[in-house]
Amino acid sequence: MTQTDIQIAQAATLNKIQDIALKVGLTDEQIEPYGHYKAKLTMDALKSLETKEDGKLILVTAINPTPAGEGKSTVTIGLADALSRLGKQTMIALREPSLGPTMGIKGGAAGGGHAQVVPMEDINLHFTGDMHAITTANNALSAFIDNHLHHGNELEIDTRRILWKRVVDLNDRSLRHVNVGLGGPMQGVPREDGFDITVASEIMAILCLAKDLKDLKNRLANILIGYTAKKKPIFVRDLEVEGALTLLLKEALKPNLVQTLEHTPAIVHGGPFANIAHGCNSILATQTALKLADYTVTEAGFGADLGAEKFLDIKVPQLGKAPNAIVVVATIRALKMHGGIPLKALNDENPVAVAEGFANLKKHIFNMKAYGIPVVVAINAFVSDTEAEIDIVKEYCEAIHVPVALTEVWEKGAAGGFLLAEKVITAIEAEETHSFTPLYDVAELSVPEKINKIVKNIYGGRQANFTKKALNQIKTIEENGWEKLPICMAKTQYSLSDDPHSLGAPTGFDVTIRELVPKLGAGFIVALTGDVMTMPGLPKYPAALKMDVGENGEAIGLF
Ligand code: ADP
Repeated sequence: MTQTDIQIAQAATLNKIQDIALKVGLTDEQIEPYGHYKAKLTMDALKSLETKEDGKLILVTAINPTPAGEGKSTVTIGLADALSRLGKQTMIALREPSLGPTMGIKGGAAGGGHAQVVPMEDINLHFTGDMHAITTANNALSAFIDNHLHHGNELEIDTRRILWKRVVDLNDRSLRHVNVGLGGPMQGVPREDGFDITVASEIMAILCLAKDLKDLKNRLANILIGYTAKKKPIFVRDLEVEGALTLLLKEALKPNLVQTLEHTPAIVHGGPFANIAHGCNSILATQTALKLADYTVTEAGFGADLGAEKFLDIKVPQLGKAPNAIVVVATIRALKMHGGIPLKALNDENPVAVAEGFANLKKHIFNMKAYGIPVVVAINAFVSDTEAEIDIVKEYCEAIHVPVALTEVWEKGAAGGFLLAEKVITAIEAEETHSFTPLYDVAELSVPEKINKIVKNIYGGRQANFTKKALNQIKTIEENGWEKLPICMAKTQYSLSDDPHSLGAPTGFDVTIRELVPKLGAGFIVALTGDVMTMPGLPKYPAALKMDVGENGEAIGLF
């Protein structure tokens, strides 16, 4: 019987975190251990690296996924292990898992099979407490807002125009709309509120984009919390609580160091979702890895239409470094789904459906190439794949001159990733001059123009349609001079369109923009499309049903 992810992780022998740090030249003084196998990097350590040159950056992304994910984290980790074994100084930069999907549909999110970051139990559960710090800072701000209302509302905040919501790091649909302040004059001011999942919080985005403590505090001060009745914007700095919020986040800002099953150093830090937020690990994590290693392998969430687009148009300008290569992960299973096969029939051989579903992969390949970055396709091999199905993908990739590698890191660890590693190295070395071209000019285009560019060029749609509410919000954004910000699309991950059931590479569709939310601390404008939710719900049979704790306190059922 094949071992589960957690069985493989629990059987692994881990190196002490001090030894992992030393591998990339970090001394005992430059890390703060959290137990034996996790550590935070000190801010002094990060400062000492500032003048070092950056290594090469590899971004791992994917086609539109099936509900279980396409193995991007697995391939990211396996590719890094393979590069390490080929003698390259390599580090990983990954996002922290959220308890919402862990308890809901996905189980763990620390890779899988023989390509995992460990200790996977900790990483998947409470880790070093970053998620809790972010949740607490977010909800502290809610408490400060409600307290301000209770004590006379000097700023004249309109309770019907408060944008800031509470958060919890769980999928809990019952909290999407709540009333707070009920119970009479001593219990606060009644108003409508709601909860998002923590990974959708602007504080999560801010933590992931902040360069240092000072930048963190500035960004927190700039959070737009709502408006007065006369539509004057009110910011965190008006409440004068940015100092307190920074204090709550000062430890969470430090990147977390762990290791892979094969002892490659990995920084796992920050975790915004890519469908409802910007979907990349922290800038500090990526930057640190770039300074410490010759090759950094990082991942952006969900399909390339979401995570990679935002990585390239939101994160890259802040990071000051574009990827040297992009790996697009595809699975035969998901390609079959894009070729019209239902989830329950994905294990049956069907090369015709693979050929049909290739359209989805092809669209993502061309989208990524349009940024001027070399692309390599990784077929994340599943045991149910057949040779005929794999051959179709190889043949179709070759026809469009894209290197492709069958990747078996889930089954074999680093050894299953050599082929991919070699193709990635070749792609990077062949790249003579860096010619990164962003999708849109952030300062020149209007908000609707930027959104339309994403809809047309990346999604392959006809145009964006704006609801009346969204049009009013665009007016407010323009009146306040916030239109020069990048766009963070909130869209279903399952389709290139805003309809989760429209698979493959649809054309001729419109995307409905129902709402725009200025996130001025993070520095982007969220555009909510279709009926995407910023607080997910649990499925009928959540992954939590299989979870338990063994007699010795070991986790059971985290996949
Ligand atoms: P993503 O990063 O795309 O969301 P993950 O890497 O987290 O996907 O993988 C999702 C799940 O799929 C994990 O439980 C992992 O063990 C499993 N998985 C990934 N690749 C394979 C594979 N090649 N064969 C079987 N299961 C896999």
